[in-house]
Amino acid sequence: MTQQILLLPGDGIGPEVVAQARRVLEKVKAQHTLDFSFDEALIGGAAINDEGAAYPDSTQMRAREADAILLGAVGGPQWDSLPAPERPERGLLAIRSDLDLFCNLRPAMLFPELAQASSLRPDLVAGLDILIVRELTGGIYFGEPRGIYTREDGVREGVNTDRYDEDEIRRIGRLAFEAAMKRNGRLCSVDKANVLEVTMLWREILESLRPEYPAVELSHLYVDNAAMQLVRAPKQFDVMVTGNLFGDVLSDIAAMLTGSIGMLPSASLNAESRGLYEPVHGSAPDIAGQNLANPLATILSAAMMCRYSLQLNLVADCIERAVASVITQGLRTPDIAADSGSAEGITIVGTTEMGDAVISALDSQ
Ligand code: NAD
Repeated sequence: MTQQILLLPGDGIGPEVVAQARRVLEKVKAQHTLDFSFDEALIGGAAINDEGAAYPDSTQMRAREADAILLGAVGGPQWDSLPAPERPERGLLAIRSDLDLFCNLRPAMLFPELAQASSLRPDLVAGLDILIVRELTGGIYFGEPRGIYTREDGVREGVNTDRYDEDEIRRIGRLAFEAAMKRNGRLCSVDKANVLEVTMLWREILESLRPEYPAVELSHLYVDNAAMQLVRAPKQFDVMVTGNLFGDVLSDIAAMLTGSIGMLPSASLNAESRGLYEPVHGSAPDIAGQNLANPLATILSAAMMCRYSLQLNLVADCIERAVASVITQGLRTPDIAADSGSAEGITIVGTTEMGDAVISALDSQ
């Protein structure tokens, strides 16, 4: 059956980077005679301008029908004066909650040639390849009661509640084990089970899943130690799984280890593995429309889409190898050129030329 891919280019550099990812997908479709088709819809500021809402009904209808969604980025200065509930970024929150995308996958990969970009020593990070699996729709960001209250003694008090039920933990745990099976078979669960009951349950449920995945080696770390280990010896990790709050912090630490925001893809999945795939970066209005944007994070997001929603592991491998090969050839968009150490063998290219290079690398595999 034909798989439907919905493209949501969005704002700023979004349309430029999504266009290159689409060309790459068209290329692998022809190479591997794949059966998928593309649809395109508005989100963010572009949707506000044309349809009066950041996640309009027409986009919602097509998003619900799609097998996978590839998004560019949303937002820009022209919408900054709108009240918060009407801004382009609300479109992202709306689509995530509409599709119940509870599982956020954030890889932190560092191609050896780009190791200079990291704030850590190159030998600690060259070849880094971690996947952080973060629960996205539960935990302390959503738990009730919450609020700022005035107590009877007149003193104000802020309250948030960290809560997970066992079903929520089990479903994110299963996705993390499955992701580990698609990678190197090591899963580290991060909690604070020495102090917080909610994470004692988290650890117990993760342990209860262990027998279902004998090929995966499960370990546990307290979050304080996990943060230390990430900046001490990050290459020890394969897949890390954690709740919403700890995942928010740890995935940004891991992203910083790579130093190159234009290279980082992400995925948010629901229980049926339908997903929203997007680069970690924003709409970069400062470089929009100038053929300067790095399209590789979006192309790598398309590779994740092949792996996690379209069940095309080998195609995902091909795209990732093609990206690695253009980096090895010395091709750089300006954002990653400055970090390449010596200029020898480095060629600075634009957005479209980077797309061309990935496509010809696919040809020569
Ligand atoms: P940003 O990620 O857009 O840009 C930060 C810096 O990184 C800029 O200098 C930009 O030029 C550079 N950069 C980002 N992506 C790049 C790429 N692919 N190639 C080359 N350089 C790149 O973050 P910001 O400036 O804080 O936000 C700009 C707008 O994007 C805001 O409206 C913000 O709300 C929005 N935003 C959207 C998302 C999203 O759609 N998921 C995420 C973050 C920010």
